[in-house]
Amino acid sequence: MLFPGLEPQGPVAYWRPFEGIRHGMAPTGPPIPGQERETFCGLTISVVIATEVQWLAPTCETCWAEAKARRDAMN
Ligand SMILES: [Zn+2]
Repeated sequence: MLFPGLEPQGPVAYWRPFEGIRHGMAPTGPPIPGQERETFCGLTISVVIATEVQWLAPTCETCWAEAKARRDAMN
């Protein structure tokens, strides 16, 4: 669990690295490699299998703020 504080009753977001930044996307279903998903900040990304190094990428601030807002709305 990468962001335990953001997952009180199930995930509020899925996170995937894209071009060196980790973006969040709505938890409509687990991201499947090859799938196109829209991130909170408005990008459309192709889901890839992330390597260990990619998981260390910085988090997109726009996506993080949106994920926090969604978590707060659940509490
Ligand atoms: Zn983003």
